[in-house]
Amino acid sequence: MNDPILLLRDGQFVDCNTATLRLLGYHSKAEFLNRRPSDISPAVQPDGRSSEDKAAELIATALREGYHRFEWIHARADGSAIPVEVTLTPITVAGELILHTLWRDITERKRAEEALAEYSRDLEALNRELAASNAHLAAAHQELERLAMRDTLTGAWNRRYLGEITQQEILRMERYGHPVSLIFIDLDHFKQINDTHGHAAGDAVLSAFCDVARQCMRATDMLGRWGGEEFVIAMPNSGLMIASLLAERIRTAMMAHQFPLVGSVTASFGVAECRAGETWECWLARADAALYSAKQAGRNRVIADASDWHETDQAELLDLAFLRLVWRDAYESGHAEIDRQHRNLFDHANTLLTAVIGDRPKGEILPLIKILQADLLTHFADEEALLRTTRYAETDHHVAVHQALVERAQDLAANFQADALALGDLFNFLAYDVVAKHMLSEDRKFFPHLAPLAEAAN
Ligand code: GH3
Ligand code: MG
Ligand code: MG
Repeated sequence: MNDPILLLRDGQFVDCNTATLRLLGYHSKAEFLNRRPSDISPAVQPDGRSSEDKAAELIATALREGYHRFEWIHARADGSAIPVEVTLTPITVAGELILHTLWRDITERKRAEEALAEYSRDLEALNRELAASNAHLAAAHQELERLAMRDTLTGAWNRRYLGEITQQEILRMERYGHPVSLIFIDLDHFKQINDTHGHAAGDAVLSAFCDVARQCMRATDMLGRWGGEEFVIAMPNSGLMIASLLAERIRTAMMAHQFPLVGSVTASFGVAECRAGETWECWLARADAALYSAKQAGRNRVIADASDWHETDQAELLDLAFLRLVWRDAYESGHAEIDRQHRNLFDHANTLLTAVIGDRPKGEILPLIKILQADLLTHFADEEALLRTTRYAETDHHVAVHQALVERAQDLAANFQADALALGDLFNFLAYDVVAKHMLSEDRKFFPHLAPLAEAAN
């Protein structure tokens, strides 16, 4: 079939072919000719502009450019609309300017385009629905994960998850040498609480216990419910001493707490620091055994498992029953002044430790930290002067170690003052790293060099 063609002169149709008549629904040329483009168009085009204005503009463009193609909406004789693609080409016939108009019915193409647009809209809507249901699924998944990790009654980590996190802590210990400890806790005479006040009251005690424990814990400590009235706290970056200290704080906090209906409830604690190469089960079993000892010894107490503490110095150093650093004869250098200063540091560290355990207010603890810091500075200065007179070969190294300790102590004390540091950590450093570990390992290396001086002085 031929394409419909129209000829336009001075804005009027002067000729057309039968394809044109058929498409627009006219019976004869006579019926059609002499009309103007706007006569066979709806009043406005889809962009909202009047067909008359727009037609004039398009014709002008074709005349100017020599060729113009565009889309248009025509109206058939019966008034129905028909989308077309129009190609206007100005030609000269016998000296007259004629616009040759080739046009094509694009109803099918328009329909396909619309279907495609509708399809994209549907797809977009579907995508939005999918995204929404994905978010929903993700939230549900998160909730499931939370349920899989948490104990429902207390919100503490559950047994399975606790196993996973402690395995990770064991790896960290092996890789970086960070100490990690466990506290195994069992509420005392819990059965009696259930028997006397009912199971619901027992449940409330379990939840409240977790709140009490959390208030004593550091942000990095992890509380899990092992089962029944048994709990486990995993403590990253904490040796036996700090873990015992925390256990002691929870124990005293429990004694001070009044549980609604039930009154006072106590707990027993077993503490164990993870040993190199130890499995999680072994480590937990040692904490459990220490807990058993605490029960045997009368309950409401902390017992730390120091049975096989490799660094015997440290085991000797700490009296776990009283959570005090213990001075022993073996720590004597023989030099009266050095020994006096060392003992003095021990005493002040213990005073600080007692204040920490007793949960004394910050205003009371800060002066104790300052005293310990001042002791350290004096002691380090005296010790360094002495070392120089003995011509101890490692003096420079020892001075550098002192300097690093002093700087770290200053940083930590400042952080504590600004509330950016847990007291347990500060204590761990001052009493344990500086007083105990440094004095009992680095210092001992030069003790033999002090002997002649001590003899001379005696
Ligand atoms: P001990 O000081 O020796 O630990 O004595 P105990 O009574 O605490 O120890 P025992 O193991 O004999 O009893 C523990 C009780 O805890 C028995 C059990 O019914 C109760 N229990 C276990 N799980 C729950 C719980 O989820 N809610 C409540 N209310 N009670 C529980
Ligand atoms: Mg029990
Ligand atoms: Mg119990």
